[in-house]
Amino acid sequence: MPNARNMARTIKQKGLPFDFQKQDGGSATDVFSLIEQMDKQLTEEQRYSVMQEQGCCKSDDITAPFRAFGHAHAGKPLAEKIALMDELKTGHKAPCHLNPDGTLAIYWGSGGEGDNQCVCRSIKRMPEKKPVSLTFCGCCAGHVRNTYQHALGVGLQLKKIVSSAVASDGREQCSFLFDVVEA
Ligand SMILES: [Zn+2]
Ligand SMILES: [Zn+2]
Repeated sequence: MPNARNMARTIKQKGLPFDFQKQDGGSATDVFSLIEQMDKQLTEEQRYSVMQEQGCCKSDDITAPFRAFGHAHAGKPLAEKIALMDELKTGHKAPCHLNPDGTLAIYWGSGGEGDNQCVCRSIKRMPEKKPVSLTFCGCCAGHVRNTYQHALGVGLQLKKIVSSAVASDGREQCSFLFDVVEA
């Protein structure tokens, strides 16, 4: 679950023009009201710049295998590293592929066809609120950005939240498009 306090802090750090409506605390309701305001007040590009800094589960034990992979394959071309990803053994691996235009697509979720689940499990604590904004899954994007930057040794800039399991009621996976930039 994205954290409203952290999101508010990132908005301030980036100096974005934003009229905070209320104290942004840690509850699910706070998260959804902040996301609603972000969707109203910020451009898509600004929202991505905030959300790519978020993400659950960024602890050392989760990033360790990604960092080890990154060290083992440092210096190899990006396409080669992606082809070697089968070597990476962790439950936090997300399928990814490099597009002909150089952008990196990453898919992240569990479940399957028609029953895709967002990995952001605590979504279950969220208030009954439909529809859910795609901005919510910027949290998932922040998670995969963190691990894949470590594994691939590049910088990743969130270009698009393509789809979200929660926003589509399980019809689609959480999927993202990143620009590859210098680390
Ligand atoms: Zn999350
Ligand atoms: Zn998601």
